[in-house]
Amino acid sequence: MAAAGLWRRTGRLLEMAPARGGWPRLYSTSPAFADVLRLPQKQLTKIVYPLRELAQYLVTDTGPGLLEQRLFDPSLEDIARAESVFEATARNRVEYLSSAVRLDHAPSLQQPEVCFIGRSNVGKSSLIKALFSLAPDVEVRVSKKPGHTKKMNFFKVGKYFTLVDMPGYGYRAPEDFVDMVEAYLKERKNLKRTFLLVDSVIGITKVDNIAIEMCEEFALPYVMVLTKIDKSSKGYLLKQVLQIQKFVNTQTQGCFPQLFPISAVTYSGVHLLKCFIADITGNLK
Ligand code: GDP
Repeated sequence: MAAAGLWRRTGRLLEMAPARGGWPRLYSTSPAFADVLRLPQKQLTKIVYPLRELAQYLVTDTGPGLLEQRLFDPSLEDIARAESVFEATARNRVEYLSSAVRLDHAPSLQQPEVCFIGRSNVGKSSLIKALFSLAPDVEVRVSKKPGHTKKMNFFKVGKYFTLVDMPGYGYRAPEDFVDMVEAYLKERKNLKRTFLLVDSVIGITKVDNIAIEMCEEFALPYVMVLTKIDKSSKGYLLKQVLQIQKFVNTQTQGCFPQLFPISAVTYSGVHLLKCFIADITGNLK
């Protein structure tokens, strides 16, 4: 299996004492997971388990374990195994497949699918790019202008699953959203999970609420991903996360109760999210 080499390397690294010294630099390219494993414990936790790191700052009167309900809490070994699913090799082709403006133009595929939805500018392209950092040939457009993604873009991740980048909603894109996203979410048979991105700096907006209501109405299993966590102070981020967590606990049915905070700049939370995707698509055996 392709993971064997990586696993051997990772296994060795796990036995090594963590490297001394500070965070070498803010990652702007993919940190291989092996490099992450070399980090001192505190920094490793921050990059791999951002929610766990954040929970340390909770004062006890915030309520019983609001952030402690970690349903998905894989080991570093599991996370290392999941990396190989996303790593492009001769035997594991990770590639852009096609784009579609309507559901009936979407490729007919058997393998499990996950999709990413979110308001324009929420950081969707940046996150998808980060997820594909071990497949540098995959081109994911990251635009400076809001609202550029007007199509559903399909990416094949080997024999494992398909990832779909949906058009951003909110800014100049309501028609696309209704025509494409709604039909897709409602009818796509092999859709395993929807990842709904919310900007952690801004919180849940009116347009995010429309998307949440849609997921709820269609009884979709979905997951809330909080983007751009590198932009806030720890205190502000904690406040936002607690607020959104409370919303998820009290106002939603279909949302996975664990939030996934991420940064496409520092890669914080990205490895964990990859592991979650590998798991829910049945590829983390
Ligand atoms: P999309 O419209 O949802 O695809 O959003 P993009 O990925 O194009 O990102 C919108 C803007 O937010 C761009 O200027 C990105 O550089 C920035 N951005 C995206 N993700 C992050 C992040 O994790 N941290 C920070 N600081 N900026 C981000």
